[in-house]
Parts: sequence; C-alpha cells; structure tokens
Amino acid sequence: MSTPQNTIAIVYDYDQTLSPSYMQDETVFPAFGINPESFWRRCSELVRDNGYDNELAYMKVLLDTLGMDRPTNADLKSLGQKLNFYKGIPEMFEEFRTGLLNEDHLAHGITVEHYVISSGLKVLIDGSRLQPYVRAVFGCEFDVDEQDRITFPKRVISHTQKTQYLFRINKGLLDMSQDVNDHMDAEIRPIPFPNMIYLGDGPTDVPCFTVMKKNGGEAIAVYNPDDPKRVGFKKMLPAFDPCRSSQTHRAG
Ligand SMILES: [Mg+2]
Repeated sequence: MSTPQNTIAIVYDYDQTLSPSYMQDETVFPAFGINPESFWRRCSELVRDNGYDNELAYMKVLLDTLGMDRPTNADLKSLGQKLNFYKGIPEMFEEFRTGLLNEDHLAHGITVEHYVISSGLKVLIDGSRLQPYVRAVFGCEFDVDEQDRITFPKRVISHTQKTQYLFRINKGLLDMSQDVNDHMDAEIRPIPFPNMIYLGDGPTDVPCFTVMKKNGGEAIAVYNPDDPKRVGFKKMLPAFDPCRSSQTHRAG
C-alpha cells in the first residue's frame, strides 16, 4: 500500500552552508584554549603521514589535546549555544514555519521538514539555536566513559558517508539502530527524492549533490557573499551541469 508522500525535506550541510565559520572555532577552541592553527596542523599530519580519514583525525586530535580535561557531551551541547550563523538564520526557519506554505499546500497536507547532515560534531548543533527547527541532525558523535567524559568516536560521518543519511531521510529511518540498506519500495518511502532539496557549499558536498541529481532531487550550492575567493565553491562547480535543474545560490 502506498503512503501519502506529501512531506518536503530541506537538507543542509552545516559549516559554510548555514554558518560562515567552522563550528569548533566558535565553541571548543575558545572554551578550552586550543590554538586552531596547531590543532588543524596536527590533523593534517595524521591524514598525510598516518593515512587517517579527516574526521577521525580531528576527533582524535580533540581527545588528545583535551586529555584529562575531556568534557561531557552535555558540556559540548551547552557550547553549541555559541554557534553563529549567516545573517538571517535562524530567523529564516521561523519565517518558514508560517510563510512557506499556502492554503492549497496545507489543504493537501503538505509539510516541510529541515535536516542537517554535517561532518562536524552533532552535539554542538543540537545545542544551538537551530535545534527547535530541525527534525534531525546527523553528525560525528563521541561515546563517553564512566565519568561521562567523551572518550571514543561512536559515529563518524565523512563526506562520502553523508549520502547514507540522505537515504535515511528518504526512507524515514532516523533511528540509527535501523538498517538503512534494508529494501523499501519506492512508493512507501516517506520522502521521495523529488521531494528533497540538499544545500551545500563545497567539494565535500559533491557526493550528496550526485545522489540528489541521480534520484530526481534538487541540489543547491551556496557561497558566502563576503568571501571574494570562494575557493570551495569554485572547486565544486564542475559537479553542476548547467543543463540540469540544480542551481547555485549565495548564502546569507
Ligand atoms: Mg560545508
């Protein structure tokens, strides 16, 4: 039996898509007196010399740097309050609550849900001012030890793994214990790809753009209007075929 497929999902990358900053710069680094340059240099060394994945590298360097001062996830969540976004966010989400759908949409039971898929730390976004507006946030997560302090990565979302979460949204499998690879007929998927829009800012979003385009969804690339170099944006432009419906847009 088919289900009404009248939900629209808008899915956002986080760093440089919803915010002009990187999340650690506004939260963890100042709170724990971490020098960003030496932090990211150490991450690059692990990737270059030890073959680490980028996300595991930053999670390891964070644990190593904090040592005995490792915070709890609740501590990190409260740091999420310090996150800042592009101008107009989160007000945009507030306006979407009442101003996005007209009476016809409402009569057909159409609803809009927002999701974030980030290779950054989920707990920081969960603690941010975005939280009330998003149905689910997917990001890297730490497990904790007996003292509740972060101790080991329990979920790592690399840029290629981000695509798995598009399928979780598509199939309505938001609980991580559910296997996203289980077969589900297209007509019973709660949010078909043509009802999905993905927004991202850089090369790490290209796998998601590709999945969206292949399955009939929308992919939108955004850039920071205050960044004249737009390095990441330019790198990803070849992923956009001008003949397709996907588009580019300024953020903020
Ligand atoms: Mg980004």
